[in-house]
Amino acid sequence: MRIDVVTIFPEYLQPLRAALLGRALDRGLIEIGVHDLRDWTHDVHRAVDDAPYGGGPGMVMKPQVWGDALDDVCGDDTRLVVPTPAGRPFTQDLARAYAGQRHLVFACGRYEGIDQRVIDDAARRMPVDEVSIGDYVLVGGEAAVLVIVEAVVRLLPGVLGNPVSAEQDSFSDGLLEGPSYTRPEVWRDLAVPEVLRSGNHALIDRWRRDQALARTYHRRPDLLERLGEGSLDEHDRRV
Ligand code: SAM
Repeated sequence: MRIDVVTIFPEYLQPLRAALLGRALDRGLIEIGVHDLRDWTHDVHRAVDDAPYGGGPGMVMKPQVWGDALDDVCGDDTRLVVPTPAGRPFTQDLARAYAGQRHLVFACGRYEGIDQRVIDDAARRMPVDEVSIGDYVLVGGEAAVLVIVEAVVRLLPGVLGNPVSAEQDSFSDGLLEGPSYTRPEVWRDLAVPEVLRSGNHALIDRWRRDQALARTYHRRPDLLERLGEGSLDEHDRRV
């Protein structure tokens, strides 16, 4: 998979080369390009923004600069992702869909965002998603790109040491994952639940499922409402 990011703060994307992502890069599992949007400006001030039509506070990112940048960076198999608080929510399902793409391009907005015609124009040639990472407003799209890329890359074959861990994570079966424990057995008077030390794997699986159901019910009941027909058996429903 190739990932390209267009931004006015390329240095903000340094973490794409660290830790798990850095290892994926070194092993050739992904390619990453980070581009300075100002390379596509033509004026002496290298301006990327202008006042909004219709008045109001803030500045809007100019369509000419973004249009030229995306013309150069996007290709035949690009899916363009534009982070914005006004986008569709980024979810594990979307991360999975992105993990199946050959080329992702991210357009990082700043100020009041990017002139809408940039998105409308790109959508005439390629799939474009306006995506939000949560119901809050960041200063720019770079932090959102770090979140999205990390969620996607860890799903690529060969990236995680043990692929089963991604299969058991929160959201893979529509539920939050329950609590985890490691040694020692007792820490500050708090003991690891006995069932996890029983060696009875059927019991452990049932306990983990119950914990996931209870946690989801208390913290994210909206997820339970979204579960597909037949996702819960009789026992699940009693929990
Ligand atoms: N005026 C915009 C609005 O109210 O929808 C907010 C613009 S925000 C200050 C600047 C940039 O930060 C956006 O263009 C986007 O790239 C990024 N951004 C802010 N919050 C975000 C979120 N929740 N998810 C994804 N991107 C976000």
